[in-house]
Amino acid sequence: MPNSTNNVKYHVSPDLKSRALGAYLGLAVGDALGAPIEFLTKREIAHRGGHKEMTGGGWLKLKPGQVTDDTEMSLYLGRAWIEAGGWNANTAATQFAEWLKHYPIDVGNTCRRGIRRFMLDGSLHGVESEADGGNGAAMRILPIALATYGDDSAFEIAAIEQAHITHYSPLSDAATLTLGRMVHVLLAGQGIESCLTLVNNLIARHPQFRYFPYPGRASGYIVDTMQTVMHQFFSTNNFEDCVVATVNCGEDADTTGAIVGMLAGALYGVSAIPQRWLDKLDTKVKTEIEYQTNELMKGVIK
Ligand code: MN
Ligand code: MN
Repeated sequence: MPNSTNNVKYHVSPDLKSRALGAYLGLAVGDALGAPIEFLTKREIAHRGGHKEMTGGGWLKLKPGQVTDDTEMSLYLGRAWIEAGGWNANTAATQFAEWLKHYPIDVGNTCRRGIRRFMLDGSLHGVESEADGGNGAAMRILPIALATYGDDSAFEIAAIEQAHITHYSPLSDAATLTLGRMVHVLLAGQGIESCLTLVNNLIARHPQFRYFPYPGRASGYIVDTMQTVMHQFFSTNNFEDCVVATVNCGEDADTTGAIVGMLAGALYGVSAIPQRWLDKLDTKVKTEIEYQTNELMKGVIK
């Protein structure tokens, strides 16, 4: 099993609130950084001299620092938890429907199909399908991980139910659970070793996720997404390098960026996120992220 911790030094923030806020802002920053180069290849990005600033643009014609569905779905899921005062799958699906009604700038096909199904018949999941193996359920797991910190069974129920509203796939489920649990161990300050244990357990159960040697794909297929995220997360030693290396793999760059930004933010803490990136993020998004982090972790952080 890969273990890249031997020669890499990690600078770990000691403070729980810094890690929780780092995870949420890291998610948004990774999304906004990657979105302008979504669907480019690694080679095309390199040919342009690489990408490490909040440029905006891309196929969605984004403003610099603008976030996309990855951050938005997370925020709507967080709102559902806060509104219901706990986990309620119907409230979550209703929030996803609210989001879809607000003409989001970008919606994945599987997400759209699942939300439409709920809007038509009120059902909270479809049938298991290999076509649901995209990264759309995994990319929005953070609010559930924050709200269930310290309670793994509550986490597992909410994580799976939120996932199945749009994605009913064993590989998506396994990745979604692993990412949420990685956030939990990082929030607890257990660092990279505990993350490696979780990832190695995932690979033991689903060998498709093996990322060493790195296969080099970064598409929206959950296996490609996870391989890119794991490869970069375990082979870099600070927030900026981690997120830059990840989005420069191209393809689903906003989503790999969002997921790795979440993990790196939880590991290195909010102060490790480059200020020049935070400055570009929409103030409304930043404000809601701070509000949700406090609400979702009420009783855990002050
Ligand atoms: Mn996106
Ligand atoms: Mn994406």
